[in-house]
Amino acid sequence: MDFSPRARIDLNALRHNLALAQQHAPQAGVLAVIKANAYGHGVAQLLPGLDQAQGFAVARCDEALRLRALGVRKPILVMGGAYNAEMISAAAEQGLMLAVHHPWQIELLASLPRKALPRCVLKIDSGMHRLGLLADQFETSLNRLKALNCLGEQPLLMSHMACADDLASGMTEQQWQLISELAQRHSAQISAANSALILSRPEMQGDWVRPGIMLYGASPLIERSGPELGLQPVMTLQAPLLAVKTILKGESVGYGASWIAPEDMPIGVLGIGYGDGYPRHAPAGTPVLLGDSPVPLIGRVSMDMITLDLRSRPQARVGDWATLWGQGLAADRIAAAAGTIAYQLFCNRTERVRLEIHGQG
Ligand SMILES: *Cc1c(COP(=O)(O)O)cnc(C)c1O
Repeated sequence: MDFSPRARIDLNALRHNLALAQQHAPQAGVLAVIKANAYGHGVAQLLPGLDQAQGFAVARCDEALRLRALGVRKPILVMGGAYNAEMISAAAEQGLMLAVHHPWQIELLASLPRKALPRCVLKIDSGMHRLGLLADQFETSLNRLKALNCLGEQPLLMSHMACADDLASGMTEQQWQLISELAQRHSAQISAANSALILSRPEMQGDWVRPGIMLYGASPLIERSGPELGLQPVMTLQAPLLAVKTILKGESVGYGASWIAPEDMPIGVLGIGYGDGYPRHAPAGTPVLLGDSPVPLIGRVSMDMITLDLRSRPQARVGDWATLWGQGLAADRIAAAAGTIAYQLFCNRTERVRLEIHGQG
């Protein structure tokens, strides 16, 4: 038996979540966001579950080029744009769509031969103040890009929402208003909806939606869980029990001897730690699924191991598999316990965790 941790990847759950995104935005095209190795899920392994997407979106040029190398022929949007002439030429050669978010990128485009220019997308800063042209730079930028003949048949305006996860925030409406006014005035298409917007604002879907986290089955909304939103977990992270033993009242567990046994009790040592991507800040009490019931983590998370309180499950044996998150235990819950978000848990999966793909073909 193999005693190293595994991430079971359920392509049928992915298909289900993608279909849900399309149902929420029936008029829009879906660009599946698969940056950061498909949020740590393994982009090459996930592609067979994304047949129904009209295209893809990634953060960086090298991520898009990797997709082309994997045989992806559909549209790919590079949301961060390009930073030098080589990247722009490669984007043109490979038929990528490049976000343009800064006037200097337009200068760079203008300095290159017209034939070597890729399709460009105008990225607007509608209030998040990360990447994007400011509203007063929009018209000049649009006209320059039109003159370079790199906007395709109809300009596409993209933007990103700062507070879409928070239904109580008024910022989303403000951002949407700015985006839709610009788009209307210049007959542009809109791409602004991330997972949170797709699941919460039917009137703000635009022409191209960009679902990320929802595809993987975690919730993009504060205080709503993935299952509540009809999402299914794609990654189920599992590890085996390496040891089971009994310790005595007053004895301690793990680094710093921070956890003290309140009575004589059985404990289990699970073969997964922060070196695999399990969050080091998960505190004692964080649930781990053993069989079909949760048992609490005790002591500090170390690089290769965590320790479990087995008082509620004394029948556990070496070789039993536990689930850290996924089917039966929402990643959102573990993220909340560890003071982070499911996005980061997924991205932190390391190469030591073997992928096991289910639902192929
Ligand atoms: C990551 C990202 C998305 C997807 O966001 P989710 O919250 O994962 O749906 C969409 N647009 C941009 C610009 C992004 O960086």
